[in-house]
Amino acid sequence: MNAFIKQFNIFRKKQEAIDESEVEEIIQPSQRPLTLDDYIGQDLIKSQARLKINLAKKHDTAFCHTLLLGHAGAGKTTFAKIIAAELGVPFYEYLGSNLNDGSVLINLLRRLPKGAILFIDEIHMLSKSIQEFFYPVLEDSKYLYANCDQGVELNKFTIIGCTTHAGMLNHPFMERFAWKPTLSPYSKSELSELIKRTASRKYGFDMEDDVTLSLASLCQGTPRKAVHLIQNFIDVASCSFIENRPVVASDLTLDVLTQTVQSLDMDPMLGLDRPFREYLNVLQNENGKPIGLRSLSAMCHQQEVTLLNSIEPFLLLPNIELPIDENNVIVGPLAKVTRGGRAATPSTVAYLRACKNLQQNHGWFPGETFNVD
Ligand code: ADP
Repeated sequence: MNAFIKQFNIFRKKQEAIDESEVEEIIQPSQRPLTLDDYIGQDLIKSQARLKINLAKKHDTAFCHTLLLGHAGAGKTTFAKIIAAELGVPFYEYLGSNLNDGSVLINLLRRLPKGAILFIDEIHMLSKSIQEFFYPVLEDSKYLYANCDQGVELNKFTIIGCTTHAGMLNHPFMERFAWKPTLSPYSKSELSELIKRTASRKYGFDMEDDVTLSLASLCQGTPRKAVHLIQNFIDVASCSFIENRPVVASDLTLDVLTQTVQSLDMDPMLGLDRPFREYLNVLQNENGKPIGLRSLSAMCHQQEVTLLNSIEPFLLLPNIELPIDENNVIVGPLAKVTRGGRAATPSTVAYLRACKNLQQNHGWFPGETFNVD
């Protein structure tokens, strides 16, 4: 969801009583999939969700409290919205950092109707004391406060929290969620399918398989990157064809994709942009010696949190397939974490060599330095 709309919804919810008509507004205007059948990949988690949705409907009970884990853009918000839509219950969306005021929170909880879903994005931003406040809410649908021995009963609703940083949650808080699925990175064929569907539904284009597969290999296993890349691809196509006509599917060729990748300063192998390359260059310059996160952050001119949230989730994946030429694919992580810090791997060297080759022979990445032979 657009950040401004999200903030606006949060602001509006603080100002107004919550009623179902608002919820309709949040769920409806979306290019996101709205059913589990439409949600691509994550088969095991989807089948568990189906079972839980059927049980909740059959027994007319609230869905179990759920903690969704996974990297940024993996589809956590979409999945939570689908659960609400499949259950046919109201959905209320908040950022964790906006629920740290006790009176705002109590006001919200007291208004939530039976069965509703309270979605807390970035739940790791809840303060320690608010996480503790939630223990009886999660366990017994009530909250405690100073002058009330028994606590105050609440409707039975569901909390779905999502986070990219499970390690930042209190262990007892985390343990009170009955279901804690982790969304895994998407395979190339899943992303290709996602791209095909998005291109057809959102833009009305039937894309060729070779194009969707090439796009998919540049998205680092992440649906949000795929959605953005399609948009950029179509933008470049519309600038490339000077005739006065709208883009048609046959304009979306591999040549235009190459132009798109170049215009976004990405590499054509994995779709990594300059901050990724700088990170890998810094590791490589250490000649195999591990480097601490703080030093790495200073040397890459990136905040530690950016490295942790945006750069490393992909680079540390164990099975990255790096196509260094037409007949050669290297499989392995592009960086590793050791006791002493982050360090280069054989794939780091192979990747930087491939970049240097593209630079020397094809003019890619002007102005960058790659310290490899
Ligand atoms: P997160 O909450 O994990 O950051 P989102 O749910 O906002 O990610 O998803 C980012 C984008 O990717 C959305 O546009 C969404 O529609 C799309 N998307 C994510 N996962 C899927 C999926 N499994 N199938 C289809 N589209 C998806």
